[in-house]
Amino acid sequence: MRLLAKFGIALAGVASLLVAVIAVRTATDRAPAAVDAAQVSLATALPLDLERAAQHLAEAVRIRTVSHQDAGINDGREWERLHAWLQATYPAAHAVMTRERVAGHTLVYTWPGTDPARQPIVLMAHHDVVPVTPGTEGDWRHPPFDGAIAEDAVWGRGAVDNKGSLVALFESLEALAASGFLPAASIIVVSGHDEEAGGSGAAAAANLLQKRGVEAEFVLDEGLAVVADFPLLGRPVALIGIAEKGYATLAVTAPAAGGHSSAPPRETGVETLARAVLAITSQAFPLRFDGPAADMVRALAPDAGLVVRMAVANEWLFAPLLVRQIAATPAGAASLHTTIAPTMLRGSPKENVLPQDATAWINYRIAPGQTSAQVLERARAATRGLDVTLDWVHPPSEPVPASSTQSRGWRTIAAAAAASGEWPVAPGLVTATTDSRRMTGVSRDIYRFQAIVASMREFEMIHGTNERLTLDNLRRLSDFYSRLIATAAR
Ligand SMILES: [Zn+2]
Repeated sequence: MRLLAKFGIALAGVASLLVAVIAVRTATDRAPAAVDAAQVSLATALPLDLERAAQHLAEAVRIRTVSHQDAGINDGREWERLHAWLQATYPAAHAVMTRERVAGHTLVYTWPGTDPARQPIVLMAHHDVVPVTPGTEGDWRHPPFDGAIAEDAVWGRGAVDNKGSLVALFESLEALAASGFLPAASIIVVSGHDEEAGGSGAAAAANLLQKRGVEAEFVLDEGLAVVADFPLLGRPVALIGIAEKGYATLAVTAPAAGGHSSAPPRETGVETLARAVLAITSQAFPLRFDGPAADMVRALAPDAGLVVRMAVANEWLFAPLLVRQIAATPAGAASLHTTIAPTMLRGSPKENVLPQDATAWINYRIAPGQTSAQVLERARAATRGLDVTLDWVHPPSEPVPASSTQSRGWRTIAAAAAASGEWPVAPGLVTATTDSRRMTGVSRDIYRFQAIVASMREFEMIHGTNERLTLDNLRRLSDFYSRLIATAAR
């Protein structure tokens, strides 16, 4: 009895100490200086003729630079048309920049700076678009390649991804060139022609820049944006991608004897394959509160409610709770680990034929900090004892590690993002792939941000139906680029 009472008092003591520690930590936790963009003195945005810019984006949308999975069926003349259109539409920008073409149709522009000691900046926006899924054309409120300007938006495939960025970038370059702006640092613009089909153009551009010894201060590409209904805060948050997940697809093949399905062996190739796929997916990578996704939550905590602030200030205690909260949605979970997604299957060509071999394709998105070799090793361990072969379908893309949130480049981009509206800015992880992953040899600091605001629901229009860029977003994008360029290159 006495022992129990003593134990109870001790427990109460520990509990009150815990409460005190949590309270003190919550009260003293400060936002990382990393996201404090207030010290940067931004150049003002140049005036923009919004109606004209919208016309320009509509014209760009009408040029069908559609990247098919099989590049052989792409219509190269459309790329030529787009290049000629850029040249004709932005004469002042083209007068101050040199233009080169690599890998067929990828464009590399250089606006030489006046100070050779300064590191160049690299701005990227690809100009190919994904196809419209056959059969869905009629679902569009305005046809996908008409370039309609209606309901305060420019409609069509590529309006956001990524011709919106390309046009806004050139509107700013044109205005800067026309205003007599002389950059101290060189400005390099890379516009990939096949981002949606592998990004060989961006790879060739990176190669060219590396051969020239270009060590850029930063690279900025698409990737994240301002999320209007960010779950953690329930209001807009500007997310700048500081890292990018890797990409790899594993073919799992079960060899089998084949034959007539009326006399099957004890186990067919399909069954072996099914067991192998389940063995691999049952070994999910553990969810962890670390890396860019954790940095994002930490950066936003000061703007969040007490519960989130308390949990973040006391990660030592609440990390499992944070993981559970974030992983409640598939997108949230994807930011905390390497994902494993079986996507395609192949067995025999006919229902009464036993397969001679059966194959499953498993798509991985590799979290920063891990490698494709570790992923393969885990799959091998999971399928040990099963008669299957494992092969990468194409060379894996390794994850791109996190860029600095202390650099001058980060501070300038974060300040320009903050100036685009009333929202906090935070670093984030890009779970898809972008052309910028090719630029790791060109700069240590790669950022991924498009200065547009949309809800989680609205972002589904990218690669989907009714893709459109609102005129407000077109202005925001253009102002963002002109502030950023005039500040970073001055
Ligand atoms: Zn894109």
